[in-house]
Amino acid sequence: MTEKELLNQGYRKYSGKAIDVYFNLDICQHSGNCTRGNREVFNVKRKPWIVVDNAEANEVERVIKNCPSGALQYIMKVNVDK
Ligand code: SF4
Repeated sequence: MTEKELLNQGYRKYSGKAIDVYFNLDICQHSGNCTRGNREVFNVKRKPWIVVDNAEANEVERVIKNCPSGALQYIMKVNVDK
């Protein structure tokens, strides 16, 4: 999806240097995979609850791929070594 499509669907954007993260609370199933996956990036006790640059872009991508609902999406902005 493009950023425009995500924002139109109600996703909120959290910007990072190399990767942008998008979250849609209406879709979230509260599985906790994200907060368990990386508490430095995803921490519901903090505002903002997502701080993208607290981990490498590849790590943020890894955690988002474990989101079961699609509530978390990302757009990689630069090529990063895998
Ligand atoms: S992993 Fe996805 S569905 Fe689960 S709590 Fe996080 S955002 Fe919500």
